[in-house]
Amino acid sequence: ESLKQVSVLHLPVHLCRDYLSWLRSRLENGQTTHIVTLNSEMAMLAERTPQLTQVIKQAELVIPDGAGVIFYLRLRRHQQQRCPGIELAASLLEHIGQVPSFPIVFYGGAPGVAQKAAYYWENRSPNLNITAYHGYLSPSEEEQLKDFLQTTQPRVIFVGLGVPRQEYWIAQHRHLCPQAIWIGVGGSFDIWGG
Ligand code: UDP
Repeated sequence: ESLKQVSVLHLPVHLCRDYLSWLRSRLENGQTTHIVTLNSEMAMLAERTPQLTQVIKQAELVIPDGAGVIFYLRLRRHQQQRCPGIELAASLLEHIGQVPSFPIVFYGGAPGVAQKAAYYWENRSPNLNITAYHGYLSPSEEEQLKDFLQTTQPRVIFVGLGVPRQEYWIAQHRHLCPQAIWIGVGGSFDIWGG
């Protein structure tokens, strides 16, 4: 199924009946994808931040995460279901759990949180192979993360540094893993690891 791109407050949003199947085929084909989960706060921030607007426009998949975005789409007669980022991230993890030894990364949150979130998911899906990094790395620790990304080539990278830091970080580093799916997940590690 292909995506239909529409415009919400001068930002792209991609409509699709089943984002997960679209992503599964991207994953199988090694097509790099930056997923942005758009809500009103992010849209308002983008309105006064050209750099954020540019990053959102370059993302291959912008999903309507917030109720405000869905409301706007409905006004324009688009029949799109809301797709909360944390739910899409969870369905991706459930899918990857069925594909053995597919390395993935959790990056972000206070020290220990992403690791706890990784344990939570590895418990649910023993096939998952998650490496966790917290979101307050020193410059040299961040270099280690970049080396890890380059040598391991994880296929999905979950980045929970908050908006817009995670979007900028993905835009700057996505060239390190040219086959990966990158998704900004905000505070999702806090929820899974809490
Ligand atoms: N965070 C981080 N590094 C930073 C700043 C924030 O890892 O330098 C994390 C923070 O610990 C929290 C997440 O980013 O887990 C932000 O969560 P929030 O729910 O505020 O996300 P947003 O609403 O911005 O999507």
